[in-house]
Amino acid sequence: MSTDNPIPQQAFARTLADIGLRTTPQREVIYKILLNERNHPTADEVFARVKEELPTISLATVYNCLETLVQCKLVKAVNFERESTRYCPNLQPHAHFHDDRTGATNDIALPAEILSQIKAVLPPGYCASSVEITFRGTNTTSDSAVDRN
Ligand SMILES: [Zn+2]
Repeated sequence: MSTDNPIPQQAFARTLADIGLRTTPQREVIYKILLNERNHPTADEVFARVKEELPTISLATVYNCLETLVQCKLVKAVNFERESTRYCPNLQPHAHFHDDRTGATNDIALPAEILSQIKAVLPPGYCASSVEITFRGTNTTSDSAVDRN
């Protein structure tokens, strides 16, 4: 399934070049991991996965690469209260649904008209560069996946 959607290699290199950085195998592999399994992993979870491909990589390098990907806006850092930062490669406007039972975090698409309605509640003079919406609760459609974590 993941091979249906290969990394737009040139776009990846160009985005890094835009902020004066070059493509490295570490950055590439980490970005690929985030794209292939979109379950909002923490840095530790990314580290565990990347080690299969790059056994000598350090956790510090993983943190640096994730920071770089966030910096050049290929990936978003997502924070839920009292939890480690998670990483999301979905750059479309979306909310998150955090399942309290399984710990899973799913993307929920936010239609443009809803997003502009939300921004419309801001008083004059307030200019939002981003909006973060997180639902918390239980997702009964994920019952079969409860044992996964
Ligand atoms: Zn997300």
